[in-house]
Amino acid sequence: MRQPTPATILVLGGTSEGYALADALTDRSDLRVVTSLAGRTPNPRRPSGELRVGGFGGTDGLAAYLAGHHVAAVIDATHPFAATMGAHAAQACARLDVPLLRLERPAWSPGPGDRWEQVSDWYGAVIALRTLGARRVLLAVGRQELAPFAMLDDVWFLVRCVSQPDPLPAFAHAELLLDRGPFDLDAERALLERHDIDCIACKNSGGVASAAKLQAARERRIPVVMRERPQRPTLPTAPDVATAVQWLRGAVGNGAGG
Ligand code: NAP
Repeated sequence: MRQPTPATILVLGGTSEGYALADALTDRSDLRVVTSLAGRTPNPRRPSGELRVGGFGGTDGLAAYLAGHHVAAVIDATHPFAATMGAHAAQACARLDVPLLRLERPAWSPGPGDRWEQVSDWYGAVIALRTLGARRVLLAVGRQELAPFAMLDDVWFLVRCVSQPDPLPAFAHAELLLDRGPFDLDAERALLERHDIDCIACKNSGGVASAAKLQAARERRIPVVMRERPQRPTLPTAPDVATAVQWLRGAVGNGAGG
């Protein structure tokens, strides 16, 4: 008997959730899972299933891809700060009536003992650092978002990035630390102590891999300048992979391997 054609699922990736979802779907013979990466990271880890790399060419390009590859459903598992891709996915899927789910880790929120300054952009973060009188800052904002901080020429920065910033902005006083999470609490405590850090600037990525610095800051009683998440289209949203897999059952059915 002829097997039914597997339904194509497009996972917009670049996050640990995107990889975990592709892993979770790897045994589904009724699905063809394609993970899409933006192509920013040299030699990225290969996801389970198929991989495509590079931008689609805006909403129109994505819509053409969805139609051309007969995509049955899209899961937007991009990072909470990847606002453009999220908007393009919402527009293209709405245009073609393709089911779309956002897989997004919940945001962090401040607890007792936290001293957070919440800002909506990096210039707001620069102003907050000035107002706080920060002198030695752990800057964990991503390698492409460093430039506004270089204007603070009386602050020493420990710039932590996954890969080399290109170019590294002209900081007056800075040390570069290339490191990738998950970061463990003891190591974060030791890092803040070793460098005499008096403030952390970061974005509200959420998740566990990079949350230890927040607890270390709380224990040290130092402030955290936290950039809030950008606005994203209102969509059905799953906080974890299991919920996304469940949603897919409703969107494309159980299939043979479901
Ligand atoms: P963005 O600003 O939302 O997207 C800019 C453009 O990059 C998009 O318009 C799209 O180009 C392309 N793009 C983004 N994600 C893509 C994907 N998964 N597959 C194919 N093309 C993609 O995104 P970003 O903030 O630069 O992030 C880029 C990637 O890095 C994302 O996949 C995200 O998950 C990952 N990431 C981002 C952050 C962060 O803090 N922003 C942190 C960790 C990981 P076209 O318009 O040409 O389609």
